[in-house]
Amino acid sequence: MTTVRKKSEETAARTLDVYLASPRGFCAGVVLAVDIVELAIEKYGTPVYVKHQIVHNPIVVAETERKGAITVEQVSEVPEGAVVVFSAHGSPPSDYEEAKRRNLTVLDATCPLVTRVHNEAKKYAREGKKIILVGHRGHQEVIGSTGQTDMTLIDEREGIDVPEFEDDQEVAVLTQTTLSVRDTAAAIDEITEKYPNALVRNDICYATTNRQQAASQLAEVVELVLVIGAQNSSNCNRLKEVAESYGVKSHLINGPDEMDMSWFEGVNRVGITSGASTPESSVAAVIEAIDPKNVIHIGQGDENITFRLPAELKSVEKSPGVRTGVRR
Ligand code: SF4
Repeated sequence: MTTVRKKSEETAARTLDVYLASPRGFCAGVVLAVDIVELAIEKYGTPVYVKHQIVHNPIVVAETERKGAITVEQVSEVPEGAVVVFSAHGSPPSDYEEAKRRNLTVLDATCPLVTRVHNEAKKYAREGKKIILVGHRGHQEVIGSTGQTDMTLIDEREGIDVPEFEDDQEVAVLTQTTLSVRDTAAAIDEITEKYPNALVRNDICYATTNRQQAASQLAEVVELVLVIGAQNSSNCNRLKEVAESYGVKSHLINGPDEMDMSWFEGVNRVGITSGASTPESSVAAVIEAIDPKNVIHIGQGDENITFRLPAELKSVEKSPGVRTGVRR
């Protein structure tokens, strides 16, 4: 950090302008998930277990762990009778069944927009439709969604291999919520070419869509885009790809310690955005390290969406220091 600041002073000398995308950072689903962990700790005491990283950001995970959460990957790692929060990405039914067998108290932090995809999948399966899910193999959300019912996954990174169904078979197409709007449209075009009557749901969420749109606006005016967030965050990676699709160099970094000041040589306009699981403190730290001449906001502005807490946590009083709904 010290080195970065020193280099920043030498290199930028307040000659750069930073263009800051808005919206960026925490979405309503992430705010809800973090609140659920914090309020669960308030209500049940520590430890509260969290199955999978509550959201894909190491700073957010570390902060919940500092308060008393323990992150595990499998339900089988949670001690019998303990309290567990299921992460925002959603979980397959088998995880809930395992939790029941282990007598766990489950607080579900699945984003409501992911739950909507689960419900669509179950409904279309009941109606006899074949389901195609466009998503990234191995991503936690896709593990949760494919567990809901029988479906075929198309991961556009592996090529689009549209499955063969009977001619009169009804088909429904669902998507992961955090995909690239552009790449998904291309995958859906190929599917509907084969199945023109397919029922296509656009499940890419508002937060993903808005952040990608703001990143496009950034890329049109800057020479370099920094996406602040974690390498395993789907929507951070998609933001980087959006910038690159405009021919603009882009780097995905957690914070200023990962910056290389040579990136800024000959650059006057730097764009900054952040994924839906990135705390605003990480963005602020990068801006401070760059020390720009001006910070110019770009994009449609903040969102005004919130999701409701689960009933069992609504009446929990928050201790001082427990944050909810902070603009991040
Ligand atoms: S990125 Fe979208 S789907 Fe994921 S938690 Fe946020 S609002 Fe929900």
